[in-house]
Amino acid sequence: MRFSALLAKNHGIRNVAVLEKGHLGSGNIGRNTTIVRANYLLPGNSEFYSHSLKLWEGLESDLNYNVMMSQRGLIMLCHSDGQRDAFVRRANAMRSRGDDAQMFSVQDLRKLLPYLNYNSARFPIYGGLLQKRAGTARHDAVAWGYARAADQRGVDLIQNCEVTGFNINSGRITGVETTRGRIEANKVAIVVAGRSSQVAQLAGIRLPIESHILQAFVTEGLKPIINNVVSFGMGHFYISQSDKGGLVFGGDLDGYASYAQRGNLPLLEHVFEAGMALMPMIGKAKVLRSWGGIMDMSPDGSPIIDKTSVDGLFINCGWCYGGFKAVPASGYAYAHLIATDNHFHTAKNYRFERFQTGYHLMDEEGTGSQHNLH
Ligand SMILES: Cc1cc2nc3c(=O)[nH]c(=O)nc-3n(C[C@H](O)[C@H](O)[C@H](O)COP(=O)(O)OP(=O)(O)OC[C@H]3O[C@@H](n4cnc5c(N)ncnc54)[C@H](O)[C@@H]3O)c2cc1C
Repeated sequence: MRFSALLAKNHGIRNVAVLEKGHLGSGNIGRNTTIVRANYLLPGNSEFYSHSLKLWEGLESDLNYNVMMSQRGLIMLCHSDGQRDAFVRRANAMRSRGDDAQMFSVQDLRKLLPYLNYNSARFPIYGGLLQKRAGTARHDAVAWGYARAADQRGVDLIQNCEVTGFNINSGRITGVETTRGRIEANKVAIVVAGRSSQVAQLAGIRLPIESHILQAFVTEGLKPIINNVVSFGMGHFYISQSDKGGLVFGGDLDGYASYAQRGNLPLLEHVFEAGMALMPMIGKAKVLRSWGGIMDMSPDGSPIIDKTSVDGLFINCGWCYGGFKAVPASGYAYAHLIATDNHFHTAKNYRFERFQTGYHLMDEEGTGSQHNLH
């Protein structure tokens, strides 16, 4: 939707249809924990997410829609000298490309986040890296804002319409087969997140993507207590409080490949333990709901926005669990590629060839090529 709105707005291309197998917003866009940030370290990623955050800052006026963008600040906590050094390096990289970053001592953190366990913690807190311009945005509102903007610019939004095949003639795309019939097109763009491998397979393309489940959780509504987004540096746990008052939190992938769109109990226990280790007060909150989404995990944890081996067929995937914050910039770069056949400069490294050559892999977390570790 985001790229279709931009194809119409930035490139004057109006003969566009979005085909969605369920309802708009039923994918990961409606399942994420809504965190928006630009605190990436590596060249290739950092300029892309920096561009994205700037676009977020103007998104509501662009769409003329309240997406409840809340720049409440995101704090990454560190728990060792080594981790603090790494955060200082990251903060310097963020500042040197023009974004904001601020290191916090434990004394400062005690004032800002008084509810953390500072005294008898299993993993003592050494400090934190704050990005004030980071925060959250209401995910459904983002989906609906883009849908309305696309619709107003003449894009057809067709729901309950699953793509079941591609028509390819002499290496060139000529259209798609769907559950609602055939549609002819000289350009087709795939953006199907956890279903990327299956859909690309319909065109005979094998992607370096594995699909894994990521869960999230929300508690009953509480009075305001957590004013920022906070992430634990020693376990995979991050949390914010929604405008309705629920504590929204999540952690690691479930750890096995699946298309189930729901998670399992062991990971739930693991996330809750991490939460309790960091902020024991959370133990009093009652969890209302949990859910899962199918993540398109790439081998280096960074995305792909590229042409494919079929002329006129494009792909946008590999967002792992970070594609929400990418929404405006990913749409921008994808629309640019589809309309002009050239890569937009912030996304020029998001190509397949990095997995063939090994050049310009962007393994932000330094975890190697195992998909479920990114
Ligand atoms: C629990 C969870 C927490 C997350 N938290 C964050 C976060 O805090 N911050 C962040 O930046 N990111 C987060 N993410 C990741 C983010 O939500 C995704 O990366 C992003 O939404 C992907 O967007 P997309 O448009 O590529 O995919 P989606 O929003 O999943 O859209 C893909 C759509 O394609 C449709 N589709 C699939 N197959 C077909 C077919 N054959 N024909 C037609 N349509 C098809 C699907 O129905 C779906 O609606 C999280 C994800 C999850 C699950």
